[in-house]
Amino acid sequence: MFRDITTLLKDPIGLRTTIDTITERYRPQKIDKVIGIESRGFIFAAPVAYTLGAGFVPIRKQGKLPAETISCDYQLEYGCDKIEIHADAINQGDRVLMIDDLIATGGTMEAAIKLVQEMGADIIECCFVIDLPNVGGSQRLRQQGHQLHSLCS
Ligand code: 5GP
Repeated sequence: MFRDITTLLKDPIGLRTTIDTITERYRPQKIDKVIGIESRGFIFAAPVAYTLGAGFVPIRKQGKLPAETISCDYQLEYGCDKIEIHADAINQGDRVLMIDDLIATGGTMEAAIKLVQEMGADIIECCFVIDLPNVGGSQRLRQQGHQLHSLCS
C-alpha cells in the first residue's frame, strides 16, 4: 500500500504544521546543511533549510546531478538502486540534518547516511514525516546507532 502524502501537502495548515514542527525541533541546534532525499524529501528539506538558515543539499537517483558525484548502491526488494550526492556538497565536520518523507525498510536512508558519513559530516538526526514501524527499517537503523525521529508512525 502506497502512503500518499499529497493529501497532507495540499492542506495549508497540514503543510505549514509539518514544516514548522520539523523546524522547531532543530532550531536550538546549529545545522549547516539540510539534506533532502529525492524526491519527496525535497519538499520538506528545502523550507526547513531556509527557515533554519542552513544550506539545502539534494541526494538524487543515479545520473540526475550535473557535477562530480559520490554514489552508494543499495538493495531494493527486487534488485538494487544507486543514489548520488555532489562531491563538493558537504564540508568535513558539517552538522547535517537528513530529511525524507517516509521510512519503510530503511534502505534508502541507510545508503544516504553512508554517503554523508564518508564525506566527514556529523549527522545530527534523520527526520521523517512518516515511519512504517512494522516494516522494521527505523528499528534497524536505531540498532546501528543512528539517531532517528518521525512525526508519525
Ligand atoms: P525504504 O528505503 O525505507 O524502504 O523506502 C523509503 C523511500 O521510499 C523514501 O524515499 C520514500 O519516499 C519512498 N517510499 C516507499 N514507500 C513509500 C510510501 O508508501 N509512501 C511514500 N510517500 N513514499 C514511500
